[in-house]
Amino acid sequence: MIPYGRQEITEADLAAVRSILQSDWLTQGPKVPEFEAAVASRVGAKHAVAVNSATSALHLACLALDLGPGEWLWTSPITFVASANCARYCGAAVDFVDIDPATCNLCPKALADKLATAEQQGRLPKIVVAVHFAGLPCDMSALHALAKQYGFHLIEDAAHALGASSQEIPVGACQFSDITIFSFHPVKIVTSGEGGMALTNDPQLAQRMARLRSHGITRDPAEMLSASDGPWYYQQIELGFNYRMTDLQAGLGISQLERLTDYVTRRNQLAALYDQELKGLPLQLPARVPDRQSAWHLYSIQVTEAAGIDRLTLFKALRAAEIGVNVHYIPVHLQPYYRQFGFQAGQFPHAEKYYSQAITLPLYPTLSAKDQEYVISTLRPLISA
Ligand SMILES: *Cc1c(COP(=O)(O)O)cnc(C)c1O
Repeated sequence: MIPYGRQEITEADLAAVRSILQSDWLTQGPKVPEFEAAVASRVGAKHAVAVNSATSALHLACLALDLGPGEWLWTSPITFVASANCARYCGAAVDFVDIDPATCNLCPKALADKLATAEQQGRLPKIVVAVHFAGLPCDMSALHALAKQYGFHLIEDAAHALGASSQEIPVGACQFSDITIFSFHPVKIVTSGEGGMALTNDPQLAQRMARLRSHGITRDPAEMLSASDGPWYYQQIELGFNYRMTDLQAGLGISQLERLTDYVTRRNQLAALYDQELKGLPLQLPARVPDRQSAWHLYSIQVTEAAGIDRLTLFKALRAAEIGVNVHYIPVHLQPYYRQFGFQAGQFPHAEKYYSQAITLPLYPTLSAKDQEYVISTLRPLISA
């Protein structure tokens, strides 16, 4: 089976992890700040806090922005459930904003309309999570203008978008957001096994997230509420978690990060070839937006009515041909967990339409030309041109 996504582990990665296994540190040690500094400098953010997953990073980002019960977080329905669940961990409520059908990213116009209504009802969101779907950056300057107008915080869920940029500015620089999070899950752009990171330019948010990742404990006398008892002393200031990244993970991440440019270049080449080979067919191909460079985490096409085949039939035919297609994503508001809050089909029509037609084709840096050609030549005759 050709998978839809896959990590690459090189000899250099193996050597990096091996040397850490033989060092003094297995859990969070010197490699974690080294990885944080490498990612921060790569994307142009001042601070980085590495954690054990992007899900944890989203949770800490919401806590650092003081999200709590009685407050709202809004996000896109076309994302992984983690983009919404982070609000629930904080006891806050979730609502969704429909996507722009062209980009599959949260639609700034739909957001503006919903904010105007919410303002009248006194239920404006405290946080909006902008998801750079498939690696294509959202229109952050439009979202930022609304954030200023209505006074909410912006988190960028950039789990798909390490290596992406807008007008040459890397995603993660937090030019228009409070915090950006990345994922290092193996299907994402670079991997640390499991892992995530929160980037910010605000030293207080960074300090808070770093403390919350390790039980709410500080060893810094400046953060303590009373005088230190001595060199062994630490204080728990608030209720935190064990969300630490290990040095093993950080070492793998550092090694992988060195190939980020190559990976994104290769993903771009593969996407360009799909574009070229599929453009004549009755399929909706992923959007390209001037001045926005996708990291091409996913290549998700839509099987339009004119294709003469429905998505389920096409999916089964491709799987039968050993092509590991997938679907990203089931709209989050239609998950049983979210339906219990009253969400139902029909509420976010662009997201639901997209979902009914979406299929993700294999795309990862080590996908061979031969395998990609096989995907294309298998797909083509299944579509009525
Ligand atoms: C993968 C993913 C996450 C969660 O990442 P983990 O590191 O697995 O916790 C969050 N948001 C989006 C959009 C993702 O694709």
